[in-house]
Amino acid sequence: MQIVSAASEIVRPKSPSTVGARDDRAPPGESPADRAPNWRHVLKSAIRDAATLCRRLELPPNFVAPAERAAAAFPLFVPEPYLARIRPGDPADPLLRQVLPLDAELADAPGYTADPVADSAARVSEGVLQKYAGRALLITTGACAIHCRYCFRRHYPYSESPSGLDAWIPALNALAADPSLDEVILSGGDPLTLSDGFLAELIRRIAAIGHIRRIRVHTRLPIVIPQRVTAELIAALRGTRLAPIVVVHANHPREIDTLVARAFAQLVDAGIPLLNQAVLLRGVNDDADTLAALSQTLVNHRAMPYYLHQLDPVQGAAHFAVPAEVGLSLIEDLRVRLPGYAVPRYVREVPGQPSKMPIELSAPSNAIL
Ligand SMILES: *Cc1c(COP(=O)(O)O)cnc(C)c1O
Ligand code: SF4
Repeated sequence: MQIVSAASEIVRPKSPSTVGARDDRAPPGESPADRAPNWRHVLKSAIRDAATLCRRLELPPNFVAPAERAAAAFPLFVPEPYLARIRPGDPADPLLRQVLPLDAELADAPGYTADPVADSAARVSEGVLQKYAGRALLITTGACAIHCRYCFRRHYPYSESPSGLDAWIPALNALAADPSLDEVILSGGDPLTLSDGFLAELIRRIAAIGHIRRIRVHTRLPIVIPQRVTAELIAALRGTRLAPIVVVHANHPREIDTLVARAFAQLVDAGIPLLNQAVLLRGVNDDADTLAALSQTLVNHRAMPYYLHQLDPVQGAAHFAVPAEVGLSLIEDLRVRLPGYAVPRYVREVPGQPSKMPIELSAPSNAIL
């Protein structure tokens, strides 16, 4: 994800060329056709300007100027494989809405802040956040493969996170000093913008900490650029004593096309549990048919729905908000339409709480509807 410093200077996205060129060759045993074009090239050739996006998607020219204004605060970034799933000529397309900057982002909304989930208070070491028992989350990078307009970390000060393996030594020491931890979550940004070599070495160093048992990766890359699921990535996740878990992020069933389904299959066939988290977003997935189709598409391709997140009140995203009463009735609808395992847990993050909070009928958390 691309982030803006307190001084509003654009410090990201990192140029993809800064994250290592080692993956440019095809790994042995994989046919070039499986990887063409290479994910790094796809990342580099992503669309970054509103005029090109509007032209490619046959949108009216009056979308360009507002998109440029809003992109000044959080840049536009859409790679080709994701663009290919957007319906041309439809400004309301649910995939387009996730990536097209709008004037609405510039409007102030009461209660919508730069750090809605109190990440800054959860920092236990540079690049390490801990909010919940047993698991620590590493902000491995600020770079993302797509810029989601509703992103809760769109204002995160990524430049304060370590970059380069040696810069991670203090963070790893902090993990080693806390025997209550048994899981490390690689997050960001998107950790899969880092090279397979870097990830393998980071995982190796984490595995050297005896009390850590699981490594979890939070990533949107298998959705956005499915070619990112390489044999080397799978080797990095399986070639460790740590139990791996991959959590992807898709919000709409049309984000999962044939190539994405194949990337899921590669992960699951390798024995890696695959979960999905989605965000409930107005105009994207705030209807029962879409949410049911999302869950069905996920489980048909062996990814389990994990969380449906209530939108975090991040500055610039208020136009995506769906009231919790609406979300609750959507979940009730899913419960009667789907097997129990296909109904995601509907949660919100409340700063200071010891877990993501379930949003339930007659639960105390309803007090904060
Ligand atoms: C959301 C989050 C987690 C993961 O929570 P789970 O309920 O285990 O998925 C871990 N650490 C931080 C800081 C988080 O924000
Ligand atoms: S939601 Fe995830 S993939 Fe999207 S910009 Fe934020 S961190 Fe990146």
